[in-house]
Amino acid sequence: MSAQIINGKQISDTIREEIKNEVAALREKGVRPGLAVVLVGEDPASQVYVRNKAKACEDLGFYSEVHRLPAETSQADLLALIERLNGQADINGILVQLPLPKHIEEKAVIDAISVAKDVDGFHPISVGNLMIGDDSLLPCTPAGVIELLKRTGNSPAGKKAVVIGRSNIVGKPVSLLLLRENATVTIAHSRTPNLPEVVREADIVVAAVGVPKLVKKDWIKPGAVVVDVGINRLDTGKLCGDVDYDEVAEVAGWITPVPGGVGPMTITMLMANTLKAAKTAHGIG
Ligand code: NDP
Repeated sequence: MSAQIINGKQISDTIREEIKNEVAALREKGVRPGLAVVLVGEDPASQVYVRNKAKACEDLGFYSEVHRLPAETSQADLLALIERLNGQADINGILVQLPLPKHIEEKAVIDAISVAKDVDGFHPISVGNLMIGDDSLLPCTPAGVIELLKRTGNSPAGKKAVVIGRSNIVGKPVSLLLLRENATVTIAHSRTPNLPEVVREADIVVAAVGVPKLVKKDWIKPGAVVVDVGINRLDTGKLCGDVDYDEVAEVAGWITPVPGGVGPMTITMLMANTLKAAKTAHGIG
């Protein structure tokens, strides 16, 4: 048996097309969603992410502003910029690219972003809304995982899901979203005993660990859906996930590749969030 591939690139392209059409219709009504991306310093990976976000804005018809600030920017200056963007009517989403230089306190910066413009979904109020099931802007990568499941007919409802990883940006929020989608959820982490045994119970496995090829074939219940959030660079320069793809694909029912699985969904969900924030700001359904 060989798993069906969950093609994140294709699903992401479909969603982008939907967003593009919706933005075109909004622009007819004089509404143009706007995203501000703030980058402090010259981290090479962050520069690539920021470029990709600006490109997505351009492709989908959004207004965008990229603020590139020097690494020595003070926290006060960064907070002042966020304050300005909070008040700017043509900006519906604010994304501060993480990580920030060490002298800036990440929490202070995230807390300063207006909840209505928190398209990363990291503000404590957004996290609280996610927890209590209220409508909010959802963190992008976890929301992308749920879209991949739903759009391949793998509804989490009634399924047993095991999430490996409990970070605030992936593991915890993806677990809450699976719960919201009526899965029975187990959150595993580095202190979980008998991890293979725990994972073998799962109909849906989400790996968000950061350890290359940790999840092996004999951890997987035959036919299970395996979603690999991990992005790890091997010594060879190649990217690989947290799942040993070649062998796990022999037993899983569905599997995401790396790259081309969860990865492409993150920016797409950021765009979806910005569109949603723009509609809310203009009182449109
Ligand atoms: P973190 O390092 O913040 O969290 C990793 C989690 O995995 C922790 O909860 C840790 O447990 C757990 N863990 C570590 N080792 C093991 C182990 N051997 N067995 C079981 N659990 C373990 O990582 P992130 O959540 O930020 O990211 C996870 C992966 O996802 C990374 O590869 C990252 O690059 C990728 N990623 C991909 C994104 C995308 O767009 N596709 C976006 C964000 C991240 P404990 O809490 O006990 O330490």
